[in-house]
Amino acid sequence: HMTAATTSRRVLLAAPRGYCAGVDRAVIAVEKALEQYGAPIYVRKEIVHNKYVVRTLEKKGAVFVDETEEVPEGNIVIFSAHGVAPVVHEEAAERRLASIDATCPLVTKVHKEAVRFANEDYDILLIGHEGHEEVVGTMGEAPERIHLVDGPDDVASVKVRDESKVVWLSQTTLSVDETMATVGQLKDRFPALVSPPSDDICYATQNRQVAVKQIAAESELVIVVGSKNSSNSKRLVDVALDAGARASHLVDGADEIAEAWLEGVSTIGLTSGASVPEILVEGVLEWLAERGFADVEVVRSVEESIQFSLPKELRRDLRTEA
Ligand code: SF4
Repeated sequence: HMTAATTSRRVLLAAPRGYCAGVDRAVIAVEKALEQYGAPIYVRKEIVHNKYVVRTLEKKGAVFVDETEEVPEGNIVIFSAHGVAPVVHEEAAERRLASIDATCPLVTKVHKEAVRFANEDYDILLIGHEGHEEVVGTMGEAPERIHLVDGPDDVASVKVRDESKVVWLSQTTLSVDETMATVGQLKDRFPALVSPPSDDICYATQNRQVAVKQIAAESELVIVVGSKNSSNSKRLVDVALDAGARASHLVDGADEIAEAWLEGVSTIGLTSGASVPEILVEGVLEWLAERGFADVEVVRSVEESIQFSLPKELRRDLRTEA
């Protein structure tokens, strides 16, 4: 089907890509809970924003629900990597649910910053996407004090009580460049604006963006593997386009790639979001190889070695058993 006698066709494979430490931990938590306590194990919201992961865990006996009230009393519920508002913990306790909190420690860190600044009577400008589960959870820590800033367009309309006491925080999975642009505008409006003590955009989000930037300019097409509701995956498409890719598409897997995207393309960049298992990337590589893109070059920007221990409720029971 590719008629042109083109020169080389190659794939630039970004590294790091795929699973971050928080996703790895959350997925293992569900698997270990299924082994330890048996099915069904209820999970509030998608444990991580990836279709394949959710379907695979469902087959093993995980039951995904939207709210804790859907979990029959006395059962086990796991909270997703995106975190929950304190009220969700309360609801679970009221229903006598045993909860396992798989919130990523880097999301918990942002919750703690929000609580601390709220206690110090700051108004908190949370840069993030409206309705995203992480944002809903973080805002729940101090609903009276936190104002959502969903991009530069929201900057002009933010209202605070005291312009000399404002701090910005952010969702962990945003575009670094876009967020800094929003912060710049916020600083213009609020010169006394305080910055978070350390980066809220997590290491995995940052590293995947740096990695995709390295391949984007050389690629006519950048394919990002990830689900449509995955914030960090969607940002990789934005970053690839900003960094010079002619086209970039988000796909859940090889079956969503259109043949037409390959027309006139000789270099394809490939990466995946933090919630994406490597098997899906392998599927895309196979699909591309069948179409003449068999030459794969890994372009690594940084090494990652971060790991998180399992949620404490689970560690306790696994230990008792041992
Ligand atoms: Fe944690 Fe970042 Fe992974 Fe989200 S993307 S689970 S914040 S490490």
